[in-house]
Amino acid sequence: MACVSFPYDAPVSQTLFDRASLVTPGGVNSPVRAFRAVGGTPRFMVSGTGPYLTDADGREYVDLVCSWGPMILGHSHPEVIAAVQEAVARGTSFGTPGEGEVALAEEIVARIEPVEQVRLVSSGTEATMSAIRLARGFTGRAKVVKFAGCYHGHVDALLAAAGSGVATFGLPDTPGVTGAQAGDTIVLPYNDLEAVRAAFAAHPNEIACVITEASPGNMGVVPPLDGFNAGLKELCAEGGALYISDEVMTGFRTSKAGWFGVDGVRPDLMTFGKVMGGGFPAAAFGGRADVMAHLAPVGPVYQAGTLSGNPIATAAGLAQLRLLDDAAYAKVDAVSAEIRSLVSEAFTKEGVAHTVSAASNMFSVFFTDQPVRNYEDAKKQEAFRFTAFFHSMLSQGVYLPPSAFESWFVSTAHDTQAVERIAAALPAAARAASEATS
Ligand code: PLP
Repeated sequence: MACVSFPYDAPVSQTLFDRASLVTPGGVNSPVRAFRAVGGTPRFMVSGTGPYLTDADGREYVDLVCSWGPMILGHSHPEVIAAVQEAVARGTSFGTPGEGEVALAEEIVARIEPVEQVRLVSSGTEATMSAIRLARGFTGRAKVVKFAGCYHGHVDALLAAAGSGVATFGLPDTPGVTGAQAGDTIVLPYNDLEAVRAAFAAHPNEIACVITEASPGNMGVVPPLDGFNAGLKELCAEGGALYISDEVMTGFRTSKAGWFGVDGVRPDLMTFGKVMGGGFPAAAFGGRADVMAHLAPVGPVYQAGTLSGNPIATAAGLAQLRLLDDAAYAKVDAVSAEIRSLVSEAFTKEGVAHTVSAASNMFSVFFTDQPVRNYEDAKKQEAFRFTAFFHSMLSQGVYLPPSAFESWFVSTAHDTQAVERIAAALPAAARAASEATS
């Protein structure tokens, strides 16, 4: 990182970061936000409008993080804000059932055919944790198969070889997770059906579920190879295990019906978050009615939440989902394609070996020209180039995820002007990437 200079400063963000670091570990409430993989001062944002964020120093950025996925309509969409204001005026939490959560559940069930019943929770982590508990309760088995580089939230059993921040920081298996919790997790290479077949053969009648990101975005974007998800589904059915598709990132983003809408492979259980909350803490898990019937209060598998189905979160999520029609997805897909081609053009001009990897409108750059099919491949990229690229883009007012192992996100609000700003920043940033040394 010595080769990267920070030719601009952010004094107000720095002061806030100093204050935060005194009272919060690392100064942040979620590790990747701390900029440790890229260095420099994390930007403290004060407002967002459409495709732009404004930081505490008054600088504006084109936002290519979109709150790590949720803000698919851009920031402060008037109809989402109006729905929130209307809901908040009626009170903020009742701890009782309410119509908003029924409407949101109905919207999810209507959009995603394999979801016959759904339970609302407050974070993607809760959704995957609960889905796994349910799979174990339903099958009476303990073991869980996951894939290296896939991130499913900070669930104890799922942190082994996880993506996202765990990948960004190259962390070993996390202290605090006991051997018993980790011992029931089988970690396999992504996109390798033979490895899954071998795991089922080695552990007959022991595997409760296979959980996979529907199309991974947490080791950078690494889509499933043709037939991989269908193969997983088949192996799970043969082995008496449940197939859990984690659509926390892809759900309601990669199409109206998420990744299920792209590949049509029918999971037993699915998990959702991000877009369905409209920028508020709302998430869900759902799927086969006979499996969901094992959940309390109908069945014996306990799961609960004080703020589950919160009226503000459900109002925001519902307003956002109702605006996400075919035209909205066409717009997000088109702007994503345009930015991808600008990025690739800039790197090609500077002779930087790269692959722009996309899954519908999610995408990321790998600094390699070799195929990236799994986490091992992803780690072989020249990630040091990303640091230089990131800081050049940041200094020119484009906010990228501060890690080479995260997806970039766009929204319906990314208009011509926003794309032009990105285009203007790319040549210098690509040059910085080409000049970077490890
Ligand atoms: N699953 C996937 C695929 C994710 O990308 C994430 C978060 O990035 C999670 C689960 C966890 O969601 P949350 O951060 O809301 O707990």
